[in-house]
Amino acid sequence: MGICLHCGTPFPRTRKTRKYCTNRCKTNACLERKPRLRASEIDALRELLHNDFDSIDGMRERLREIIAPDLPPISVDESRAPIPRMD
Ligand SMILES: [Zn+2]
Repeated sequence: MGICLHCGTPFPRTRKTRKYCTNRCKTNACLERKPRLRASEIDALRELLHNDFDSIDGMRERLREIIAPDLPPISVDESRAPIPRMD
C-alpha cells in the first residue's frame, strides 16, 4: 500500500500509480505545486529582461513586485554589489 501524496488516502501501489491514489489527485497536486503566473505578470517578467539595473537588490525588488507583491519590499542598498555595466 502507498499513501497518496495529495490527499493522504492509502491506495494499492502499482506500476502506474506510485504517488497519488487517482489521476484527479495527481492533477490537483500538480496544479497546486506551482501557482500559474498571469499573462500580465509574464509580460512584466519579460520586460525585466530588457531593463538595466544598478544593483542586484534593485533587480530583486522589481522581481518581488511582480511575483510576490504580498511580501515586504527588499531594501535597495545601492552601495552593495553593483552589477558591472556593459557600456
Ligand atoms: Zn489522493
